[in-house]
Amino acid sequence: MKVLILGSGGREHALAWKIAQSKDCEKLYTAPGNPGTALVGENIDLNPEDFDAVAVKVLELQINLVVVGPEAPLVKGISDYFKSYKDLSQVLLIGPGKEGAKLEGSKDFAKTFMAKYNIPTAAYATFTKDTLSEAKAYLETINPPYVLKADGLAAGKGVVILNELAEAKKELDEMLGNAKFGEASARVVIENFLDGIELSVFVLTDGKDYVMLPSAKDYKRIGEGDTGLNTGGMGAVSPVPFADKAFMKKVEERVVKPTINGLHSEKMDYVGFVFIGLIKVGDEPFVIEYNVRMGDPETEVVMPRIKSDFLQLLKAAGEKKLAGKSLEMSSDFAATVMMVSKGYPENYEKGKPILGLEKIVENTLFHAGTREAEGQILTNGGRVLAATGMAKTLNEALRNAYAMVDQIGFDGKTYRKDIGKDLMQ
Ligand code: ATP
Repeated sequence: MKVLILGSGGREHALAWKIAQSKDCEKLYTAPGNPGTALVGENIDLNPEDFDAVAVKVLELQINLVVVGPEAPLVKGISDYFKSYKDLSQVLLIGPGKEGAKLEGSKDFAKTFMAKYNIPTAAYATFTKDTLSEAKAYLETINPPYVLKADGLAAGKGVVILNELAEAKKELDEMLGNAKFGEASARVVIENFLDGIELSVFVLTDGKDYVMLPSAKDYKRIGEGDTGLNTGGMGAVSPVPFADKAFMKKVEERVVKPTINGLHSEKMDYVGFVFIGLIKVGDEPFVIEYNVRMGDPETEVVMPRIKSDFLQLLKAAGEKKLAGKSLEMSSDFAATVMMVSKGYPENYEKGKPILGLEKIVENTLFHAGTREAEGQILTNGGRVLAATGMAKTLNEALRNAYAMVDQIGFDGKTYRKDIGKDLMQ
């Protein structure tokens, strides 16, 4: 099969790395890709959101299967675009249509879906500018902390959690009254606070059947001890020690099955990944969010733990033949540590030469924000490289990941030294 992956981050490098190992992978392209994806396939200079340009390349290169990495092309409707052209309708595209992508693109849509299909989630209510006073009155009926969520995509900044009622009301004025997040905060979901530990569960579905992928825990804050600003993710581990068999069974029965049945009942024709953000409260799972693509950096720990031929599973999903398929996972631990540019997630410089890459013997050093110029690899983003270590124990996996981090040098190299520490017995 000829495969095209859309995207350019660590997630796409990890997907490309895994897909390239399939015996069915005849040719692998990534667009636009990065120097990491160029190690396992060929990069094409294309913007994933320029659907016409993607279509031309897909036809020219006779691509059989397209994997959409990030959410933006999905929310913009790349899957619907492919379905609307006869020439492209034979191409298997892994990613939901616009309607399915609303699970990520609208928190109110996701909450309504969860309520309809009885999926455990925090109690909530949704308000608009016209119901601002009702929103404030609603806050008075619930206990702090107050969780306010802009309905639409807000680059990971749309969720505000506040302890004081007066502050929460002020924030509502900003979001609804002053359009703090533009169109994204035209509606605001107010949700009960859930006190627990978070994990991410990943599912590959053909819209009717599914396989569960390894679950993971990510580290969002820039600072050690989960302090400072939110980032795209500073590290991740898989498996998650507190998500034991009994808990995962509950997740599958109460969350995964009703979610997939819901997608089917709504006739969403959902082919792709469902990334379920969960909070474990006591022993019970609650959904905090859906994403319609894989996570980054979770993919960098999920892919290395998959033993099965992943391309065959993707093909089965695309052909809607996932029924009866299963996925074999390694019992080893995977841990990834993200190296970022100094200043990230605020201002940072790019273009710093990266040294030491040739010393890394493992093939699980995933490139994120890097580029090549005249034979030299340079930093090209906030998140630069994800070093994934594998081992029988979490401790050793972390040691392997940090050993890789130690070999790499670039001006301003920054990373968290406490990834996975909270999970050690
Ligand atoms: P992301 O950047 O991951 O896409 P997002 O902006 O889509 O996030 P959510 O994932 O819904 O927003 O929320 C962001 C974070 O806020 C969660 O990871 C969690 O830590 C916290 N959070 C969200 N909802 C709740 C809740 N009901 N109770 C407690 N914490 C919550």
